[in-house]
Amino acid sequence: MDKKILIVEDEPKIAALLRDYLVQSGYQTAHLDRGDEVERWVLENPVDLLLLDLMLPGKDGLEVCKGLRRFSTAPIIMITARVEEIDRLLGLELGADDYVCKPFSPREVVARVKAVLRRIGAPPPEPSVVLDEAGYKASIAGKDLGLTAVEFKMLRKMVYQPGRIFSRDRLMDVMYSDQRIVSERTVDSHIKKLRKKIATVMPEREIVHSVYGVGYKYEG
Ligand code: CA
Repeated sequence: MDKKILIVEDEPKIAALLRDYLVQSGYQTAHLDRGDEVERWVLENPVDLLLLDLMLPGKDGLEVCKGLRRFSTAPIIMITARVEEIDRLLGLELGADDYVCKPFSPREVVARVKAVLRRIGAPPPEPSVVLDEAGYKASIAGKDLGLTAVEFKMLRKMVYQPGRIFSRDRLMDVMYSDQRIVSERTVDSHIKKLRKKIATVMPEREIVHSVYGVGYKYEG
């Protein structure tokens, strides 16, 4: 059966554009233009995925997302008008699965929809990284990566939620314990070393990906 996607968007042109592209790609769609109608609607009409605009009349996308997460595990792609907003949204741990920034290309949105649905529907992949929690060690195919404690903690944070994007702020949390002031650049430098170590034992593919302007994610 076709997957059903709920578009929550108060700008009629954008909603129509999304609907056209999604229908062309073989999805069923439904559309709401107010935030305060979403939860009741989803309770009565199960959906496979939601595209949820942040600024909505009635109830904003943040509150809608939080409300939905109380009873629904349907994947949510948040749509925001500002790229800077994404970092703040990530920090709020809303439980959204992906974020798209306006203005977007509808093709890009369809690609994200497909990727999220694929990720949800696929059996969890064999983890390529094995974590030894007690020893703060990580290995790939039996080879120890030789990580520092900070690198290990950053990797662990991402490995536990594959596909989820972590902002630099979120990754910085793992360093608070050592009392030093850390900058986003510090995070980048740890991640760079971590990736280098991974590439040494597994040069054929990347598992820690940088998401431009947003942060990092693990996809094993
Ligand atoms: Ca809006």
